Amino acid sequence: MNIHEYQAKGLLREFGVPVPDGYPVLKAEDAEAVARQLRGPVWVVKSQIHAGGRGKGKFKEKAAGDKGGVRLASSVEEASAFVREMLGQTLVTAQTGPAGKQVNRVYIEDGSAIASEFYLSMLVDRDTSRVAFVVSTEGGMNIEEVAHDNPEKIRTFSVDPATGIMPLHGRTVAETLGLTGDLARQAEDLAAKLYRAFVEEDMAMLEINPLVVTKDGKLRCLDAKVSFDDNALFRHPDLFKLRDETEEDAKEIEASKYDLAYIALDGTIGCMVNGAGLAMATLDIIKLYGEEPANFLDVGGGASEEKVTAAFKIITADPQVKGILVNIFGGIMKCDVIARGVIAAVKTVGLEVPLVVRLEGTNVEEGKQIIRSSGLNVIPADDLDDAAQKIVAAVRGA
Ligand code: GDP
Ligand code: MN
Repeated sequence: MNIHEYQAKGLLREFGVPVPDGYPVLKAEDAEAVARQLRGPVWVVKSQIHAGGRGKGKFKEKAAGDKGGVRLASSVEEASAFVREMLGQTLVTAQTGPAGKQVNRVYIEDGSAIASEFYLSMLVDRDTSRVAFVVSTEGGMNIEEVAHDNPEKIRTFSVDPATGIMPLHGRTVAETLGLTGDLARQAEDLAAKLYRAFVEEDMAMLEINPLVVTKDGKLRCLDAKVSFDDNALFRHPDLFKLRDETEEDAKEIEASKYDLAYIALDGTIGCMVNGAGLAMATLDIIKLYGEEPANFLDVGGGASEEKVTAAFKIITADPQVKGILVNIFGGIMKCDVIARGVIAAVKTVGLEVPLVVRLEGTNVEEGKQIIRSSGLNVIPADDLDDAAQKIVAAVRGA
């Protein structure tokens, strides 16, 4: 689960992490009162969306102006004007894709006078099975680019869970960033607090970009991106209220209600598959024949007819979908259950795009018979290769 920057900063503040004071605004008419609660003389007005690159982002609407999704204001009036310009508008950044994201919340915080900008993130490193720090002097930049062009400017180290965070780790952060004296002590303190927040809240990723030194010598987190380990969320009921469903894909939310492993993608071929491995292979083979999948969907091993029906509805409701490929290898999952689910779904939602069905395995004859006798316009396929070629041809012919 991802959360907004202002929520991440609120959480980090509880752990004593230095972040600027600020308040979220959900309605334009509240902007002025909120800005007045801050000191000034500079206010930072920040679009809250679950995507980075906001500073360099561009709004689709002219009314939002061309100053990007993060703006510095020099008066309460200017700050509230920026809020009015941003709210409800669509921000396109390098991370949102061309469709952009609607800004439904704006954060106003005290501006900082920046002396230098750094990068610091934490994640669970699968190679070492430990929490790792990634630190770089190249702050405010796209870290993937730094990793590509100047890998020597990135330092990564992990923390042994048996010892937890130690002064050594904080000193490594300070040394990497070239901080000495009081700033080195602040870096040690920061590393310890971030580590505690990361572990206690079961975070999967925490990114501070930029981490800055202010002109008055304070280390401060100016941006914060946090995602939590979904498998540990049950331990943190308080975090659920931070969920913003408007940031999530509506189809993915619907799929999660039925416990379906579903991920929306950008292509045109809707896929219903059982087993994550087979689902991945199906996506690959669709690409091999030159088309793009509209989704990843694993209906699971023992899916019920109801679950299959729900899955089929989610796929057909997607306007991007120009054809559907059902690819089932019946092991635990039985082909007749899939067939009945598909038929039930088609009866309620209709079928306006070509449908290729490839069934193999347990009860395959029964499944094929159910589909044949349904009167539905289904294109049968014998194997994965045949199925992929048929759906690609059908989508192109349509
Ligand atoms: P992002 O573009 O989505 O990563 O949003 P950030 O929160 O990182 O803001 C973008 C950029 O705005 C930062 O890299 C900073 O250079 C700048 N910025 C953010 N807050 C302040 C501030 O308080 N003062 C100044 N001078 N610049 C800021
Ligand atoms: Mn940033």
